[in-house]
Amino acid sequence: MPLYEYTCQDCGSRFDAFRSIKDADEPIHCKRCFSPNTRRALSLFFAASEGKPVAGSSSSGCASCSGGSCACCGN
Ligand SMILES: [Zn+2]
Repeated sequence: MPLYEYTCQDCGSRFDAFRSIKDADEPIHCKRCFSPNTRRALSLFFAASEGKPVAGSSSSGCASCSGGSCACCGN
């Protein structure tokens, strides 16, 4: 599932979310302030993999997680 990056228009925080392609532009609430006023920034998934599936992707973690500690999401 592609990883999308969103920017909150209210608090300015940026966060990532795994979503299906058809849901990419659907509203998503900010993970910090829970505002629905967010905007999709870019797809890290397609930028990093050029559209090819990312090996070893699991249900948890972020794009920079390949096991072990991750400063991005804490997994
Ligand atoms: Zn926010």
